[in-house]
Amino acid sequence: RSLMDTEWAGKNIVYFDEIDSTNNRAKELGEKDGAHGTLFVADRQVAGKGRRGRVWESPKGISIYMTILLRPDLIPTKAPMLTLVMAQSVAEGIREVTGMETGIKWPNDIVMNKKKVCGILTEMSTEIDYINYVVIGVGINVNQKAFDEELKEKATSLMIETGASVKRSALIAAVMKHFEKNYALFMENGDLSGLQESYNEMLVNRGKEVRILEPGNEYNAHAYGINETGELIVRTQKGEEKHIFAGEVSVRGI
Ligand code: ATP
Repeated sequence: RSLMDTEWAGKNIVYFDEIDSTNNRAKELGEKDGAHGTLFVADRQVAGKGRRGRVWESPKGISIYMTILLRPDLIPTKAPMLTLVMAQSVAEGIREVTGMETGIKWPNDIVMNKKKVCGILTEMSTEIDYINYVVIGVGINVNQKAFDEELKEKATSLMIETGASVKRSALIAAVMKHFEKNYALFMENGDLSGLQESYNEMLVNRGKEVRILEPGNEYNAHAYGINETGELIVRTQKGEEKHIFAGEVSVRGI
């Protein structure tokens, strides 16, 4: 589509009225010959996914559900950093289109007024020494006027926050433009060092007490910001500095 002002990110769009999950479709094409940068967009998801098997609420026609397929020439251990590249790109895209500032809740949620406006789910297929593909799914709550009982305490939409409806195609194009730029910087440096400062400026956890939930372990700590690999640097109450890897960790308290 002509709207896309990019060289490769989202130049090729595969569109669905309804799909189980855009990540699932992107992974299918990742297993085959789907090209780097292909963007899968759906108007509705019937099985939208969050992390660890959670559900992403995906009503029809008012939201953005999209997944980009990537084939980065990277060592597999660096792939999770792409989630943070996308988080920053979504935050910048929202700012460009709405004029509103957003925050990032480490590692992968975009928040406004302490509520989640976007979730990001990265999945990948790797061999020991190379990445077959990475898919990054992005769900942005755009024109919801309200959320049901279950979500209203923790979810918000651009419509709720700005009071105006937002054109989804313009926002998709803006996110892709920022992603292409940020991805280039990431690949050039081989890590997040070129993005770290701007990411940390948007990080809502920075300078705050957070609760770290690891499998089988929970503790409070003071969060400082991310390092160049995207780990969250925290100091525990015992005064020990720790670098938290996103993988299976949840952070509470924003
Ligand atoms: P946390 O670490 O805070 O638990 P997470 O990053 O693991 O969050 P995700 O996997 O990104 O969470 O998203 C799934 C969760 O988000 C669901 O459990 C639900 O609470 C919430 N959720 C589901 N749909 C939406 C939506 N449309 N908008 C905002 N939040 C949603």
